[in-house]
Amino acid sequence: MVKERQVPRLNAVQEQRQVVRLGQAVPYLAAAYRQALGRWVGDPVLRLAGLPFVTECYRSPERQEELYAQGRTKPGPIVTYKRGGQSNHNLSPTPALDVAFLLADGSVSWSGLLLSKFARLMKAADARVVWGGDWVTFKDRPHFEVLTREQKGGDGRG
Ligand SMILES: [Zn+2]
Repeated sequence: MVKERQVPRLNAVQEQRQVVRLGQAVPYLAAAYRQALGRWVGDPVLRLAGLPFVTECYRSPERQEELYAQGRTKPGPIVTYKRGGQSNHNLSPTPALDVAFLLADGSVSWSGLLLSKFARLMKAADARVVWGGDWVTFKDRPHFEVLTREQKGGDGRG
């Protein structure tokens, strides 16, 4: 059983990983994330629902190739349409980051509801933020990015 009204928290190691990952992001994306996170934990309801954290920011082209293989030559669902080097995650600094939620029981959630609520805060923090959940042909709800050039209307950049 989850303890009553327990607020999920990252441990020191996890906190340090967040610092490293956000350091890989273009500064205005990291700033938007920090602002959205601040609003989230400042909300008495949202802070109990789960704690947002960055699961991935920069991604090496090698790891991108591994993800591309998933659902094609390896088992699992398709999670990306981008090969190594093609994803915005492969840029450094990167204009892309992926978010999940730590729950009070220590598990990790990719709840579409929580992600859509967090997306609202991200877009409010910086109008340049694009949420992968808004893409039409390939919804990538954990994915957020900022436009570094004119790239409106595309899909599956994650
Ligand atoms: Zn992504």
